[in-house]
Amino acid sequence: MKSDFSNNFEIKIVYDDICAQPGFLMGFGFSALIYNNLSKTHLLFDTGGKGDILIHNINKFNVKVSEIKKVIISHNHYDHAGGLKEIYQINHDIKIYVPLRDIKSFIKAYPEAQVQGISEMIEVDKNLFSSGQFGSRFLTEQSLFLKTEKNDLIIISGCAHPGLEAFILKGQTISNKIKAVIGGFHGFRDFSFLEGIEFVGACHCTQKIREIKQRFSEQFKDICVGDSYLF
Ligand SMILES: [Zn+2]
Ligand SMILES: [Zn+2]
Repeated sequence: MKSDFSNNFEIKIVYDDICAQPGFLMGFGFSALIYNNLSKTHLLFDTGGKGDILIHNINKFNVKVSEIKKVIISHNHYDHAGGLKEIYQINHDIKIYVPLRDIKSFIKAYPEAQVQGISEMIEVDKNLFSSGQFGSRFLTEQSLFLKTEKNDLIIISGCAHPGLEAFILKGQTISNKIKAVIGGFHGFRDFSFLEGIEFVGACHCTQKIREIKQRFSEQFKDICVGDSYLF
């Protein structure tokens, strides 16, 4: 599979709390395993709440934790950062990217690890960007932007506590075509921001998920653990 797909990215859902495909496990939280075909790298965005559930789902996709090179943590809530402990126990070589304002607590928890605090938007891997940290001094969060060679942008959001709008606006600074938004939308309600987006994959903590599904019935995708998407 790694050698013969022509897409740039594969996104595999490895943690969510809405539904799961047979053989996969659900849990409270969110995580997406990304294969970047441009750099031939496996990356993990968020880690769900529980490491055993996360690792089961990663392995079910025939990926080993030891193959993952980088982990991006959207924000320091247990349902996004909880599984990191077990991932790190297996793979000490992973590089961990966290919002800069949370870096002290991660360094304390993982004193030997390579931890990088992110403040501004940065390319973490080939064509794969952190949005930079958004939010207040109480809670900061980063989203992930995957930019394909066709200039399509895929946004992956953890919880979107600072507002999904902020991440969409930031994404528009590097691509004029946002193709997909996947992950937790939290309290997002200014639905006009989703107009023109082909793939609306709201899950996890999205409070208005039913309204979003109704309003964007053509674009809406039910996201389940065990699903994967090529871009
Ligand atoms: Zn949260
Ligand atoms: Zn959450």
